[in-house]
Amino acid sequence: MRPQSLLIRDIHTLVPMDEGHTVLHGASLYIEGGEIRQVVASGARLPKAHRSISGRYAIAIPGLVNTHHHLYQTLTRAYGPAADAELFDWLRALYPVWARLDEEAVEAAALVGMAELMLSGCTTTSDHHYVFPRAHPGLLDVEIEAAGRIGIRFHPTRGSMSVGRRKGALPPDAVVESEGRILADCERAITKFHDPRPGSMLRIALAPCSPLSVSPRLMRDTATLARRHGVRLHTHLAETRAEEDYCIERFGKRPLDLLEDVGWLANDTWLAHGIYFRRSEIARLGSAGVGIAHCPTSNMRLGSGCAPVPAFRRAGCPVGLGVDGSASNDSSHMLAEARQALLLQRLVHGARAFGVRDALRMATIEGARCLGRDDIGTLEPGKRADIAMFDLRGLGYSGAGDPVSALLLCAPATAETLIIDGCIVVENGELRTLSVDRLVTRHKRAAANLVVSDL
Ligand SMILES: [Zn+2]
Repeated sequence: MRPQSLLIRDIHTLVPMDEGHTVLHGASLYIEGGEIRQVVASGARLPKAHRSISGRYAIAIPGLVNTHHHLYQTLTRAYGPAADAELFDWLRALYPVWARLDEEAVEAAALVGMAELMLSGCTTTSDHHYVFPRAHPGLLDVEIEAAGRIGIRFHPTRGSMSVGRRKGALPPDAVVESEGRILADCERAITKFHDPRPGSMLRIALAPCSPLSVSPRLMRDTATLARRHGVRLHTHLAETRAEEDYCIERFGKRPLDLLEDVGWLANDTWLAHGIYFRRSEIARLGSAGVGIAHCPTSNMRLGSGCAPVPAFRRAGCPVGLGVDGSASNDSSHMLAEARQALLLQRLVHGARAFGVRDALRMATIEGARCLGRDDIGTLEPGKRADIAMFDLRGLGYSGAGDPVSALLLCAPATAETLIIDGCIVVENGELRTLSVDRLVTRHKRAAANLVVSDL
């Protein structure tokens, strides 16, 4: 499906997201073997290519990078009993439903989340899957297979929970695994799926759900295992005040001190949320090079709080964006998430403290850094051809002056064209790799089964 070479001609506005803040008009991109080979200036001679498409009415940006998600949760969006809950009550309401996940449900859920992401301009997504009911241990494999089919660049994380209700934590015991089993399956997933090569379409990371739903020993052993294999580490941290109180009560220390004790304060770690850190803690995170997945919609939806994004960035942390959810968002729209980040950070810190370009950087190059990638996130020669294009002729952009600002200030649009690793996976605003109508029918059935059996 990937043309040997591809030319995107005469792009109305090309935003490479390079360090020089370049914006080009009328330029073309030449791609070969899935890699960007040339950015051709307007008016210069164009190379010949096997396939050529016009960019005359488009703004082209690097494909968006989603650094935190729970794809399975698309099955429980807008779940009534959790609609107005804060994090811990939200989890209490949803865990019993999620405990019934099976392969069919997870496959449909993953495809729905990925389809939504792709149609919103996202070319690389992470996923944090930590619910493994006993009878269904292969759920990670199912979503990896789904990513291959739909054609998205994928960073699945093998999540885990080992402390359940019996030991005073929130997850039902039916979805808690033994630590020996968790580590064995983490190693299996790395050996079977992880591809460390440049241009990789799939990299595994290891991701205990949070330091509060596993033991400190599992956190430590997970880090040792990850470092033995050169894979990254991910977890939720400092999402709510209640979590901070629980951490102090149970371990006698603040969440960041716990993280440091178990050997995770390092540049191979990226954390979801990071709302409740003190100033001195932000400095420690910055010197260690820990990445942050900022999830503004989820944080607002659950009333959790606002992450101090400008302070993280000043401290030196790469800060990416995560749609999180999808039961706390309840969508997987990456461009909308970048807009939410812009609006939330401006609400708290003022418009001058957080620009349109800051939000775009987080959604692209900084997200790529969180995932440990230097081969995506910008549109420059040598980078993989992950490109999102939006049609500037749309109703929502009518009257817009600056196309780059329009992307984030106007209503979030659907991508007109999406290219992943040189493959055209969205064309004329439609997914080419699967039928969305059939998928929605299947997904609705799976969602109804999961929730109805709860009654
Ligand atoms: Zn999450």
